[in-house]
Amino acid sequence: MRGIAAVPNYVVMQPTTLCNLDCSYCYLPFRAADNRMPVEVAFAVAESIEPFARAGRFSVVWHGGEPLATGRDHLATLLAPFDPAVEHHVQTNATLIDDAWCEFFIERGVRVSVSVDGPSARNGERIDRGGKPAYDRIVRGIDTLRRHQIPFSALCVVGDPRPGVASELYGYFLDLGCEVLGINVEEREGVNTRANRHDAADVTAFWAELVGAWRQDPRIHLREVEWSLRYAAAVLDGTADELLPRRLDPIPTIAYDGSVVLLSPELAGFHDPRYGDFTSGNVLTTPLPEILAGAASRTPWIAEFLRGVEACRASCPYFGFCGGAHAANRYFEHGRFDTTETDHCRNSKIRLLEGVLDHARDHQPTAA
Ligand code: SF4
Repeated sequence: MRGIAAVPNYVVMQPTTLCNLDCSYCYLPFRAADNRMPVEVAFAVAESIEPFARAGRFSVVWHGGEPLATGRDHLATLLAPFDPAVEHHVQTNATLIDDAWCEFFIERGVRVSVSVDGPSARNGERIDRGGKPAYDRIVRGIDTLRRHQIPFSALCVVGDPRPGVASELYGYFLDLGCEVLGINVEEREGVNTRANRHDAADVTAFWAELVGAWRQDPRIHLREVEWSLRYAAAVLDGTADELLPRRLDPIPTIAYDGSVVLLSPELAGFHDPRYGDFTSGNVLTTPLPEILAGAASRTPWIAEFLRGVEACRASCPYFGFCGGAHAANRYFEHGRFDTTETDHCRNSKIRLLEGVLDHARDHQPTAA
């Protein structure tokens, strides 16, 4: 894997910067402001991605703020310019989901992923602007999805990865009925400057326990565990070198005003004296393929990040699994992009793989 691909697999779009919640771990800088995406931005992206969509499966992920906070009429206007072959996804806190939103999802084939951190007591960070817990509203939204038989994925932020937590969480998500589960150990990113360093043995044991819980009842696609097992199987088959994509997916994030940030949506809206505003262009003035084609040479922080990825390749035994992790974690933890290890990659790449291997070692068949 070297450099950045010219064709993405998906784009992330920000219909509004506004979120109706105020979770204490949130990284978003303008979540109290309702900066809305004009329809011209959606038209420009729809036109730009048409060749990508025609060439194969292509997705638009509507991410905020809270994408539903923009309202059905506005979101419908933004979806309208896209080719019907494009798959639409929303990443939502679920609190605004009602019958009308469910009809909207069904009519337009929108795939839904909800953010929920496990049982009520684990959602203490999920609060509204008045400081009130949001959990009951989150669950009400999810119940509405279930009532309409809309399949959904779930994203869970874990602030204290340690033994005991993983089994509780996995049991909760089995009952919740999600099809896919992603586990994000809380990251130090954006306006969330809380430390994310944890005891290494605790984090490894958390992942090992999660694998054990999943193996007992693997009804959910458990994103991190499935990645790790795919990697472990490829190592055993001698095909691990082929597992990483040949080039990094650029993951273009289109901010509400049409500006494009590549590789890490979390960098959108930030500014640094050295790197500027992290954008590589704006779809209102330049077609997306043109922005992608020149990004690595024209955007200094991306060139620096690619040097960091090469440093990872040269020094880290986990590179074949991780591929160098995410640009935003390097920046928000180290203030630059050409470093290697971060607390994020220790928690979510290195300890994850070690946890999976620990689980495998502890469950080896014993010789007769
Ligand atoms: S685990 Fe960390 S140090 Fe290793 S390749 Fe990934 S980002 Fe780089």
